[in-house]
Amino acid sequence: MPEVFVHRVPALADNYIWLFEYAPGFAAVVDPAVADPVLEAARRLGLRLTHILNTHWHPDHVGGNDRIKAASGCQVVGPAREAGRIPGLDRAVDEGDVVRLGDHDGHVLFVGAHTAGHVAYHFPSADALFCGDTLFAMGCGRLFEGTAQDLFAALGKLSALPPETRVFCAHEYTLANARFALSVEPDNAPLKARYRQVQEQRARGEATVPFRLAEELATNPFLRAGTVEELAERRRAKDVFRG
Ligand code: ZN
Ligand code: FE
Repeated sequence: MPEVFVHRVPALADNYIWLFEYAPGFAAVVDPAVADPVLEAARRLGLRLTHILNTHWHPDHVGGNDRIKAASGCQVVGPAREAGRIPGLDRAVDEGDVVRLGDHDGHVLFVGAHTAGHVAYHFPSADALFCGDTLFAMGCGRLFEGTAQDLFAALGKLSALPPETRVFCAHEYTLANARFALSVEPDNAPLKARYRQVQEQRARGEATVPFRLAEELATNPFLRAGTVEELAERRRAKDVFRG
């Protein structure tokens, strides 16, 4: 298996745009909020951008589509159920579709909840999951369009992936999420340890993403909710939490 690099491009206040270098010199851009930092990073790293992978229609995930496509001629791949809202969409994908990048197969998972058509891309051969705003470190995306039932199904799908999977989510929300998680499970030892670790990382100005799915299974109160009702209650509590 050739080595795979995923480059992080910070954008806006707390977005992460990912450049998935699936073959040497070739990359797919995941959720480009903006174009300039992506084009600049591609130049600096000597990457040809061949694809954009969008997880959902929110502007902080598709804002760079048009300019990146115009500059690179790349193919835009995005959620079929939001096809009308993805700028420059070339290929609409849904659950069960496969996006092949070099030697890597990306399995499309339908995870509608944060938005109704949200998808995630899982590349088993790269141990990588690009999940947009569905799953965050110790958190999950707000329910803008879907129900708690939808979120329960989406998080259940992600929980079932191999625990060593590296999760590349789209925002650095980790510290605030950790504070809420501790309010739910104050005696969770792995959670307490992780909170200290991410506090130190952020104090040093480091990113806390990606992280392993196994860490989420041990510390994420949304993944750990046993029922739809429990998940709904935690999501509602998080929406108004002031840590
Ligand atoms: Zn979003
Ligand atoms: Fe977002």
